[in-house]
Amino acid sequence: EDASTDIVIIGAGGAGLSAAIEATNQGVKVIVVEKNGFMGGNTNYATAGMNAAYTKYQEEKGIKDSPELFFEDTMKGGHEKNNPELVKVLTGESAETIYWLEDLGAKLSEIGATGGQSADRTHKGPEGMAIGPHLMDVFTKQVENLGIEVRLNTKAVDILSEDNKATGVKVDNKDGNTYNINAKAVIIATGGFGANAELVTKYKPELEGFGTTNQPGATGDALVITEKLDVDLVDIKEIQTHPTVVPKINELITEGVRGDGAILVNREGKRFIDELETRDTVSKAILSQDGKTAFLVFDQQVVDKTSAIKKYKDAGLLTEASSIKELAEKLKIDVNGLEETVNTYNEYVKKKEDPEFDRRTLPLEITKASFYGVEVAPAIHHTMGGIKINNNTEVINKSGNIIEGLYAAGEVTGGVHGGNRIGGNAITDITVFGRTAGKNAATAVKNK
Ligand code: ADP
Repeated sequence: EDASTDIVIIGAGGAGLSAAIEATNQGVKVIVVEKNGFMGGNTNYATAGMNAAYTKYQEEKGIKDSPELFFEDTMKGGHEKNNPELVKVLTGESAETIYWLEDLGAKLSEIGATGGQSADRTHKGPEGMAIGPHLMDVFTKQVENLGIEVRLNTKAVDILSEDNKATGVKVDNKDGNTYNINAKAVIIATGGFGANAELVTKYKPELEGFGTTNQPGATGDALVITEKLDVDLVDIKEIQTHPTVVPKINELITEGVRGDGAILVNREGKRFIDELETRDTVSKAILSQDGKTAFLVFDQQVVDKTSAIKKYKDAGLLTEASSIKELAEKLKIDVNGLEETVNTYNEYVKKKEDPEFDRRTLPLEITKASFYGVEVAPAIHHTMGGIKINNNTEVINKSGNIIEGLYAAGEVTGGVHGGNRIGGNAITDITVFGRTAGKNAATAVKNK
């Protein structure tokens, strides 16, 4: 049966739910449709944290940072392909969005690092809890408290429109019923297409045969259903691989492991790159090693620091040993090579300088048993390109005009990350722009 509402939101991931919460708080009626039988999409898998500058938590810890520095790092990490206007919004509103999330119940006071950043600004979940599940707990409670209607197992198959104005969505539910949800505004928050091998290889043939870290529903439906509205796409060929994914089982090992002190070595037991380089650079370096894989090596201190890392141990993903020698034997890599590498690396940590690769932070010596290792390789992770939006998250068509009543936020959009996304910037993206979409759509609805 057809339904009607003020705003219909497609996708119940972090972007869609941020929009839903913000719009509901503005006093308008929202319906969220989600094709999966559960909420969270790829947001459920987000591990590292949320980048923000300059927060009171950074200040308390004496970390020097600013939105301008965050802007520069994000542009540089994205090879300057990013839309600077969007990056200004991302970085400028990052700190206040941390406080907005805390008002909803999140705890984001712990800080770590990911690759490609010149200051520690990755705000983590409590006790190093993975950020995605933490925020999804917070969002789920808000959905209940605010009485937001989320229709699960309900897939958007078309966007309704009249005279180049979005007027709702057509959906299929799991019982095979098709109906319309009429609305005054539509927000697209369907995530990326990293699980759609056909689309991925169409845009980037060299990723043929790669694994993916994406949830199976990340198929890029929005690219199809917005086609008839002549929606413009940006950077669509920019597809990121995450450098440290366990081959075959596609389990992602968070960048936080390297941020906390892990090194990367090849089969000779040798380091080959600044482990905290950006994802594209580290991915490329791994693929040029013998066997096209590498090994993360770290000690008990790193495991004790972060609950996300403990989980990998509990899940049996890590090879554990009582000495570096034993670890190398178990990993079947060069024993002398690894021993020498670890000794040299520990000297670098003591001197706070890495003359070989100029690693940007050297948090810990690798000295405390047990020692751990895990084999990793790059896998498809994030689609940087997508629907073109302006600063207000309004969707832009190929003639450069906005499509009235149509908004988009999150991984489905392009322009924020340019040619390479910095770890920890996805959560900032989906919450900052999800909120913007919710706020602006609500204001437009109220002014009608
Ligand atoms: P973001 O990080 O941008 O919020 P996520 O991957 O976390 O992206 O969330 C996107 C959500 O949208 C996922 O839960 C996904 O299943 C859902 N989704 C994707 N396509 C559709 C569709 N056609 N109809 C309804 N939901 C969809």
